[in-house]
Amino acid sequence: MNETQSTCPYCGVGCGVVIEHDGGQITGVRGDPAHPANFGRLCTKGTNLHLTATPVVLQHQRLRDPQRRSARGATPEVIGWEQANREIAERLLAIRAAHGPESIGIYISGQLLTEDYHAFNKLARAVIGTPHIDSNSRLCMSSAVVGYKQSLGADAPPCSYEDIELADCILVSGANPAWAHPILFRRLEAARNDKPGHKLIVVDPRRTETAELADLHLQIRPGTDVALSHGLLHAVIARGWIAADFIAASTAGFDALKALVDAWPPARAAEVCGIREADLWQAAEWFANAPSSLSLYCQGLNQSSAGTAKNTALINLHLATGQIGRPGAGPFSLTGQPNAMGGRESGGMATLLPGHRDPASGEDWAEIAALWGLDAPQDLPGRRGHTAVEMFEAAARGELKALWIACTNPAQSMPDQAVVREALARCELVILQEAFAHTATARYADYLLPAATWGEKDGTVTNSERRISRVRQAVPPAGQARADWRIVQDIAQLIDAGLGRKPRLQARTAEDLWLEHRAATRGRDLDITGLSWATLDADGPQQWPYVDGPTARLYTDGRFATADGRARFVARAYEPTAEATSDERPFALTTGRLRDQWHGMSRSGTVPRLFAHEGRPLVRLNPADAARAALADGQLVRVRSRRGELVLPLKLDGNVAPTGADIAMHWGDEFVGAQGGINAVTQGSFCPDSKQPELKFSAVAIETAELP
Ligand code: SF4
Repeated sequence: MNETQSTCPYCGVGCGVVIEHDGGQITGVRGDPAHPANFGRLCTKGTNLHLTATPVVLQHQRLRDPQRRSARGATPEVIGWEQANREIAERLLAIRAAHGPESIGIYISGQLLTEDYHAFNKLARAVIGTPHIDSNSRLCMSSAVVGYKQSLGADAPPCSYEDIELADCILVSGANPAWAHPILFRRLEAARNDKPGHKLIVVDPRRTETAELADLHLQIRPGTDVALSHGLLHAVIARGWIAADFIAASTAGFDALKALVDAWPPARAAEVCGIREADLWQAAEWFANAPSSLSLYCQGLNQSSAGTAKNTALINLHLATGQIGRPGAGPFSLTGQPNAMGGRESGGMATLLPGHRDPASGEDWAEIAALWGLDAPQDLPGRRGHTAVEMFEAAARGELKALWIACTNPAQSMPDQAVVREALARCELVILQEAFAHTATARYADYLLPAATWGEKDGTVTNSERRISRVRQAVPPAGQARADWRIVQDIAQLIDAGLGRKPRLQARTAEDLWLEHRAATRGRDLDITGLSWATLDADGPQQWPYVDGPTARLYTDGRFATADGRARFVARAYEPTAEATSDERPFALTTGRLRDQWHGMSRSGTVPRLFAHEGRPLVRLNPADAARAALADGQLVRVRSRRGELVLPLKLDGNVAPTGADIAMHWGDEFVGAQGGINAVTQGSFCPDSKQPELKFSAVAIETAELP
């Protein structure tokens, strides 16, 4: 038996795994005791990873060959790589010539490795010349990106996982790590056992497994997080619990924020949030006065039309109390996907450029042109492109003619599915690069390109604590599958040839691409020019910035990444959600993860035992609400929003807040009988700053379903 060290491909915790294999077949997996994210532990998904690579899965559920559809709706036929690459390059060149480079959109994924991201970024911006490249990471963490930039000056989570052990008080807000980041939750549980007096505050409209562990659960109304943060800050100021010296030395904008939160006494904030005022005071006291307070937050803050405001309001609380830049203290956003961070670092998104550069800056574009060996910045699109929701809306309007989609399933995962499916149907050309064969998006693809996946490819990922880990190939790819960057490069070279110029992507290995990425970080806040793959192999995963060595914690000297070194208090008013509940649609629907499933289940759904925890889609409702609506546990109900409807079994659940409703996000149309699955009913409204859609709030009606 052989063993290969790699990284789990599911969530942003980024656990190390040891792949057991015979050189041709993966036979087992176990946690890597040397990896500092998990020290050998794995959650249920990680423990069963090898079952996503059994011979049956490889044969029947993987996409194994390049395929082409002669017409939409036709059965795809197998073709060779050479033919697929040539035809795709010719069709993209024809669309580019007829409609311009901006008629082509590229939609990629936080599942991709940093090297794949870099290749796609060059394909979009340097080869095709389109600004329209974005990632499904837009759906999970873009509000955290903008929140950090507005408040601290750079997109850099300042904390480390070890801060979970070091904190005296932890505020978990809009996150359920017990299910979504299980290994971090194990670390949190252990820390509480080892630390008498430890306080855990959980803010969540649902009584989750994480909330069960809390000393204080603030079960706020969905969407009221900014009101809560303003109320907490008001309480902190009123009782004199602020860190006045830190505010004076290291921040700016406190007076304007104080004027704003003056209007948010705890009584008012508690009323808006639907919680007890005494609980709000208690939370403020624990958070401000603990020797060190850490916040952990995720989609409950990010997936919102006020996502950035929710992030900055929480960071305000850290700044006002000086709970930042010290061991156990700081605002720590948890990333959803295994390499959402790598996508941010490599700038493979509409609102980012490599090395945390800004597409609004001409100077930054000029630097990228120089780094990529282009003659002039004019060779690049020079502006930001469509973000995820905008991209599919533009395609649905007929403005985009081609979509190249990689490693994601927008025909299930994007909100407001009617628009997404119109977009896919209307495009002249849809290319899907995927590891798994049977996704909803695959039905729309003109070309299906088989991608290598976990255990079959080399590269790097970055987890939530800025730690770069190696992903290593253990076995050959399934069928004719190839590494994502290789697929991109082969077609990019044909496009460059068609345009009569020398290739702009010429990597021999994934490491070549990583070295190009590394060069783009020189002198930036995420500088990794002191790091190499040899160091990662010798010393294991490392946290950035890494110039002379790794960096566990940022802003320890009270200086931030802004021009003047001061963090900013961001004064943003509380805004209600984009959609309001009403007599017609009285329930606030949230969607979220199950413990044992991942995204659209294309990978986790190949493992039968992962359905043991929850085996079918359900809509959960508070029993009191159900009684008022004369609905009974187990009956079929119709869930209706302005955009669509689903029919699901009802589950009465006292853990759901009154007037709330909850559905797991994973179920596609084959499970719920609605085009687009769960997202047939969710909305595409997004945060104006981060463009992250409001997946955590849709106004819905729930009523007895009358079956035909
Ligand atoms: Fe994988 Fe996340 Fe589980 Fe770790 S916590 S084993 S990274 S799914």
